Amino acid sequence: MIYADNAATTRMSEAAINTMTELMKEGWGNPSSLYVHGQKAKEILEKAREEIAEIISAAPREIYFTSGGSEADNQAILSAAALGRKNGKMHIVSSAFEHHAVLHTLSKLEKEGFEITLLNVHEDGLIVPEEAAEAIRDDTCLVTVMYANNEIGTIQPIRKIGAVCREKGVLFHVDAVQAVGHIPVNVAEDNIDMLSASAHKFHGPKGVGFLYAKKGVRLSNLIEGGAQERGKRAGTENVPGIASMATALKEAVSKMQENTEHQTVMRDRLIAGLQRIPHCALNGDAVHRLPGNVNFCFEGIEGESLLLLLDDRGICASSGSACTSGSLDPSHVLLAIGRVHDVAHGSLRLSIGEEISEKEVDYMIQSVTEVVGYLRGFSPIWRDLMAGKKEFIL
Ligand SMILES: *Cc1c(COP(=O)(O)O)cnc(C)c1O
Repeated sequence: MIYADNAATTRMSEAAINTMTELMKEGWGNPSSLYVHGQKAKEILEKAREEIAEIISAAPREIYFTSGGSEADNQAILSAAALGRKNGKMHIVSSAFEHHAVLHTLSKLEKEGFEITLLNVHEDGLIVPEEAAEAIRDDTCLVTVMYANNEIGTIQPIRKIGAVCREKGVLFHVDAVQAVGHIPVNVAEDNIDMLSASAHKFHGPKGVGFLYAKKGVRLSNLIEGGAQERGKRAGTENVPGIASMATALKEAVSKMQENTEHQTVMRDRLIAGLQRIPHCALNGDAVHRLPGNVNFCFEGIEGESLLLLLDDRGICASSGSACTSGSLDPSHVLLAIGRVHDVAHGSLRLSIGEEISEKEVDYMIQSVTEVVGYLRGFSPIWRDLMAGKKEFIL
């Protein structure tokens, strides 16, 4: 089996599993308890916080552990909105191709009276910092833009957008769930005020993540209760999960350069091979792109059938995000970069892992080429295209 859906989730690393299982046995105390068992758990928790903070150039007290990326996104955006509401600033700037954890939170705020401006995502899958600057108004309380897109892998000019926000005095939140552990992320240099990350996207466990909030940014609670996480996130901490996340992140960062070099070569080989299929297009910029992301549209086919046939050949892929698969709507990300419905339906995302081999890449190229050809063989849309009754778009 070839697992090419690492943007949906990653397999836990051996080291992360070891930390987790060891702490489930040995580190089960409640970090809020005063006896030795609890204090040992507390030490483990704070060590993880220090390690994670250091990796993204934050201070330990700026890291808040959450149940994952979605919770961190919700908390960051709702906190900025609460501050905005207090100051009579009810305008938020974001982009049309954010993760649903961001977009759905923004829709909720829109119903409560906030005004949302979604920045244009250009055909190359990138946002232009100057357009972010133009969108910011006197009543803007937040700009929220993702670091790297989960479907098409494009890496945004975060540092520049952050500089714009700093200059205008507007809070800047970044959904960095696809970036942390994969490309360098530095909250200080990138001018970031709040940042979301999730362990299961960098070979850590599911259900655990963190929110970075710069000193001075007042967070609101999503969950009320005890005084854990400096009073901003109640609930007994998931100590084994949090420590395992720190282990996974340390490992990912220590191997980042080596992984990036290998993955980039494999990614570009895969892209070059798939580009030989007629009437297809790579989605998103070829250079400003995560090392593991490949995303194509093939004209005249349905992405869902492509996935099923690739599954028969032992390839785990996706047509877009895990959240939208199973629904018949085309991906909001592909529509945002200007793909028309018909074309957006024929999409394929292959998010390759660090261990991918050249042989596996070549097998994927061969399989996708054959399956696309096979599906086009009985596609009515393809027949119309070939007969000239419809015009090719790609
Ligand atoms: C996976 C993902 C999320 C959600 O993270 P969870 O930990 O699964 O809640 C948010 N944003 C992006 C960009 C993601 O890829």
